[in-house]
Amino acid sequence: MTELARKYFQPEYGHFIDGEWVKGASGETIELLNPSNGERLSLIQAGNAADATRAVEAAARAFKTWSRTHPMQRAGILREMARRLQARVADYAMMETLDNGKPIRDSQNFDIPATAATLAFFADTPLMVRGHTSVFPDSLSLTLREPLGVCVGITPWNIPLYAAVALKMGPALAAGNTFVLKPAETTCLAVLEFFKECADLLPPGVVNIVTGYGSAVGEALVTHPAVRKVAFTGSKPTARKIMQYASTNIIPQTMELGGKSANIVCEDADIDAAVEGAVMSTVFNKGEVCIAGTRTFVHKKIYDEFVERFKCVLSGVVQGDPTQMATQLGPQASRIQYDKVCSYLALGASEGARVVTGGKAATVAGLEKGLFIEPTIFADVRNDTRIAQEEIFGPVTCVLPWSDDQEVLDMANASPYGLGGGVWTNNLERAQNFARSMDTGTVWVNRYYNFVPGQPLGGFKQSGFGREGCYESLDHYTQLKAVVIAGRAAPMGLY
Ligand code: NAD
Repeated sequence: MTELARKYFQPEYGHFIDGEWVKGASGETIELLNPSNGERLSLIQAGNAADATRAVEAAARAFKTWSRTHPMQRAGILREMARRLQARVADYAMMETLDNGKPIRDSQNFDIPATAATLAFFADTPLMVRGHTSVFPDSLSLTLREPLGVCVGITPWNIPLYAAVALKMGPALAAGNTFVLKPAETTCLAVLEFFKECADLLPPGVVNIVTGYGSAVGEALVTHPAVRKVAFTGSKPTARKIMQYASTNIIPQTMELGGKSANIVCEDADIDAAVEGAVMSTVFNKGEVCIAGTRTFVHKKIYDEFVERFKCVLSGVVQGDPTQMATQLGPQASRIQYDKVCSYLALGASEGARVVTGGKAATVAGLEKGLFIEPTIFADVRNDTRIAQEEIFGPVTCVLPWSDDQEVLDMANASPYGLGGGVWTNNLERAQNFARSMDTGTVWVNRYYNFVPGQPLGGFKQSGFGREGCYESLDHYTQLKAVVIAGRAAPMGLY
């Protein structure tokens, strides 16, 4: 372990079950490595079905009292969690950076503040979990929004705290559910540290964490009869498995999956601003962002100029040690992800794309074991090629030319995904037409990336279903009950 790893992490973490940190039933562990230098950060438990069952049972016991707590008590706990996170932004940002390789400027400016802000948003919602009242001569008809029970959250490695704590635990607890989390096996140390700090706020069993491989714990977690909902963020193949598991007990799901979002640049756009958006989309979080605008469609009238300026800015990006504030591009989060991106770099060349800049793995002096990849532009890409249709999840952007609004809309929508999107134009009517015609869950106009608390995150088509981070998320964590109370007037019959 390096000095930084020793400062922030324990040598080994247990599962967090029923308020205790416990060893896994198998006794096996998983080694977590720093993707910048390949050194060990810590060990986590390699969970199994017995651990999953224990966690769900603890959550089911806790639900009996937690579901009846005063909404203001739940609000207070969530608000205090947000405060503690915000009070130690620099520490939690460094943990995410060591664990995942994301540049500290990304974790300090996005991951931790966004997680704290979204938790604070959900802290304002327990009193807003409401139903309606209808008044009839002979009765009152009420609807109650009730918590579901034990909710399972399964989260990916690219935004560990944000996905687990803000987007999943926040609404689950606000609505009165208890929660079992299965974080990604490659990056979960900041999450574990956060619950070490916040364990005193939570009655035992309200939040439980089982670490380990999804293949070893996923099925046992999702098919347990006490589980009432699963919220998943991750890849399509895993989503299909989880939907099958969820069919065992017919439980509801929310699915936040991948993307291949279209970023459309019109000929009347502010080119510098659009280039900045395309650079941001390529390098932010090393391109490991589900909603990144990885298909940049540029109008033919400005195509050559745009590609040249894009190349100029992207090739000047500072790549290196992610713990340094000047670094804009860190290493990919894991060897598996690094290999996957490299395979797409080879594929791009074979599919006839023009490599404008990048196109291969990078070596950073002093961090020779780091999993670095050069920021890459593939130009003159055809929309039906694999690099334009499949999620690469690295610092790689495809640029495609267009000349007609309907043509580019057809190309933008010719994707199995529909998560994000961008439009760059100074024509408001055109912006509106694009925004309304794109088959996607989010459209940004004249910027790319802007996450504000309360803004829904979620997909159309194979990017999933359900919305996270917003008031409507509470609908996914509650069920509606009708209560009819008879009054004194004679019953009116059916109508
Ligand atoms: P993944 O599907 O490999 O893993 C996600 C989680 O599922 C991990 O915790 C993993 O351990 C678990 N898992 C794996 N097999 C399982 C099984 N059989 N049963 C239960 N759980 C299982 O995805 P990933 O590689 O960690 O994440 C990257 C993907 O996540 C990308 O496709 C990305 O676009 C997507 N993503 C989407 C959003 C969004 O909001 N839409 C946000 C972030 C990431």
